[in-house]
Amino acid sequence: MKTAIVWFKTDLRLTDNETLIKAIAQSEMVIPVYCFDDSHFEKTTYGFEKTGSFRTQFLLESLKDLDTNLRALGSQLLILRGKPEVEIPKIVKEYKAQKVFAKREVSFEEKQTEKLVQNELFKLRCEFETSSTSTLYHAEDLPFSIKDIPDVFSNFRKKIEKDATVRTVFEKSLSINSPKFPESVFPTLNDLGLESKTIDSRAAIQFAGGETEAIRRLNHYFFETKCLSKYKETRNEMVGSDYSSKFSAWLALGCISPRLIYQEIKNFESQFGANDSTYWLIFELLWRDFFRFMFKKHQTKFFLYDGIKTEKANSKSLNEKLLLQWINGATNSDFINANMLELKLTGFMSNRGRQNVASYFCNELNMDWRIGAAYFEEQLIDYDVCSNWGNWAYLAGVGNDPRGHRYFNIEKQANDYDKKFAFRDLWLKN
Ligand code: FAD
Repeated sequence: MKTAIVWFKTDLRLTDNETLIKAIAQSEMVIPVYCFDDSHFEKTTYGFEKTGSFRTQFLLESLKDLDTNLRALGSQLLILRGKPEVEIPKIVKEYKAQKVFAKREVSFEEKQTEKLVQNELFKLRCEFETSSTSTLYHAEDLPFSIKDIPDVFSNFRKKIEKDATVRTVFEKSLSINSPKFPESVFPTLNDLGLESKTIDSRAAIQFAGGETEAIRRLNHYFFETKCLSKYKETRNEMVGSDYSSKFSAWLALGCISPRLIYQEIKNFESQFGANDSTYWLIFELLWRDFFRFMFKKHQTKFFLYDGIKTEKANSKSLNEKLLLQWINGATNSDFINANMLELKLTGFMSNRGRQNVASYFCNELNMDWRIGAAYFEEQLIDYDVCSNWGNWAYLAGVGNDPRGHRYFNIEKQANDYDKKFAFRDLWLKN
């Protein structure tokens, strides 16, 4: 085959990127493409931006890093803007490409776009091949069919740990042949209809997008500081950059693969020893896999008010005033307020914080959980459709929680996890 296109989406990396590796192996010329999809920069039905400023900034940084890394191998990134089903076929025609390689999607809107592109390519007699590139365990290696994936995480985890193995990482290619194409122009936040926002200096971490930064963060967390060896004891904290890995943002855009993280955990264990903490990071990556496979199984149900449950729940209304108080950190709980301010001003919140503010939203404010999930979608730098909607459904009692309805006693949580007020003081007293 002469020319192939690699359509990058949320797999913005060179190492362990199956679509890229396959394209290079099967063709003489490869055109790496990213398309800014107009629909990602519209408002959702809940009235929030689909992609807010913090995540867009991180995306732009990640794309620029990908472009730099591609150039080092003799290629470059072609930037498109519009509807992928219109823009990708245009490039196929222009460069007479015979095949498009892309990451395989699992969630509804992404799958719809994938189908639209596939249909247009079919008309041009251009092949379309997708590969699963997001998860730790490859979809084809699961020890159950999709419809039989256990809905309870611990059942899923135990079976996987017993009967499946993690595939090895695809090494980065040494060079890529690409035709000459025009210099790419990256849009600005303004071009995308967004205001540029600076991350508050109190942020747990100043995220910078891209594979280079992702690998730097991994080396910092594992080999330079050895924070990995105490991850299990620190992961529920809320202040500072090193209480947890902060890999989420890079994982969400695919700047790093979970398999590479796994490989490096194994390297770390062989040099410095395995313990509960080194295992626990793999355990958390399994949660990530779980939600992704749950989306494959239950599809659109995670966006419904009743989630994956069959019984109907009483519907809840929107209270605009309470919603704004929650968003702006002006509720009657200082613990919730500190967390919500962190999210608003930095695009990040700890896992402990997320559980509490989501529980508060569902149980104290008594509102439709999907509104809260949609606000997270706008704000989070690490927004991932499966992890976000899956976790929200879980906390709303309509997802994968076997206990049915989880209720967080916010005062107790604040006392347990912010006993000395370090977190609340950081956000409320400065
Ligand atoms: P670590 O504690 O260092 O964990 C390592 C990695 O494991 C994370 O980067 C993440 O990829 C994965 N992980 C950890 N916990 C979870 C979990 N509960 N579910 C799925 N994966 C997990 N995570 C996202 O990546 N994107 C989201 O949009 C998102 N939305 C959430 C919404 C709610 C209401 C809740 C309760 C959790 C959400 N999470 C989401 C999960 C979790 O809070 C974040 O992954 C984590 O806080 C990110 O910080 P970290 O990378 O330092 O995590």
